[in-house]
Amino acid sequence: MLSISPISAFSDNYIWCVAREGKAIIVDPGDAAPVLKHLDENGLSLSAIIITHHHYDHVNGIELLCERYPNTPVYGPENQCKSITQRLKHDDTITLLDLTFRVFAVPGHTLDHIAYYLETSPSGPALFCGDTLFAGGCGRLFEGTPKQMLNSLGLIQALAADTEVYCAHEYTLSNLRFACVVEPNNRDLLSRFEDTQARRQADLPTVPSKLALELLTNPFLRTDNAAVQQQVATHAALKYWNQNDIFASLRAWKDDF
Ligand SMILES: [Zn+2]
Repeated sequence: MLSISPISAFSDNYIWCVAREGKAIIVDPGDAAPVLKHLDENGLSLSAIIITHHHYDHVNGIELLCERYPNTPVYGPENQCKSITQRLKHDDTITLLDLTFRVFAVPGHTLDHIAYYLETSPSGPALFCGDTLFAGGCGRLFEGTPKQMLNSLGLIQALAADTEVYCAHEYTLSNLRFACVVEPNNRDLLSRFEDTQARRQADLPTVPSKLALELLTNPFLRTDNAAVQQQVATHAALKYWNQNDIFASLRAWKDDF
C-alpha cells in the first residue's frame, strides 16, 4: 500500500512523504522537525530524500534528517548543495521502495530545478515538481528565462492528464485570484476558485491537483489560448507578440499583482 502525504512546514510549504510498508521517501525537506514528527507518529523509517532545487526551504532539513537516519541517500540535481549524495540529470530514472521515478530537468524558477515523475501511484501518475508548476500558477523566475520556464511547463503539460501535481507550496487561492483577473469568463476557473475558497476556509490543503484541471484553469499553461493572449497583450500594451512574449508578460504581471 502506497501513500503520499503532505507535511506542513514554515508558513506555506508542503514537504511530501511517499510511504510504503513502513518506509518513507521525503521530498524537499526544508525543515527536519516536522518530518521527524511525521515519521515517528506514523511508524516510518527514512529510506531516501529527493530534492527538486537548491532553495533553503527545500534543502535545509537534510543534515538533521541524515544525522537521525545515517547513510540515507539524498538524490538531487547538480548544484552547490553539499548534502546531496546522488546527482541526477534529465531522463535519469531512480527506483526507490520499488517505485520508479523519472527525472525531468525543468529550469526556470532556478537553473538546477528537476521534477520527479512516478508513473504508478494509487490515484494515477504523480509529479513532484517543487516550485515549477503550482496549483493555479507557476514559480517565480529567480534564475531562468521565460523561455526556459515555458519549455519546462510544456514538458509537464505533455504528461498524462490524470497526473496528480504535488507542488511545494499552498499558493492556490492567491494564484487563482490572479487567474480570475486574466480569465474572468473561464467557468472552470470560477468554479475552481469557489472550491478552493471552501477548502481553505476548512483549513484543508488544495494540493495535489489534477493536471487536467491545471490545463483548464492555470493561465501559465494557457498562454496559447486566444482569450489569455488578448488579455495579457492589452495589460502589457503589446502590439505584436508570440507565445513567449505572452508568457513573459503574464509572469511579470503576476509578480506585480
Ligand atoms: Zn524555490
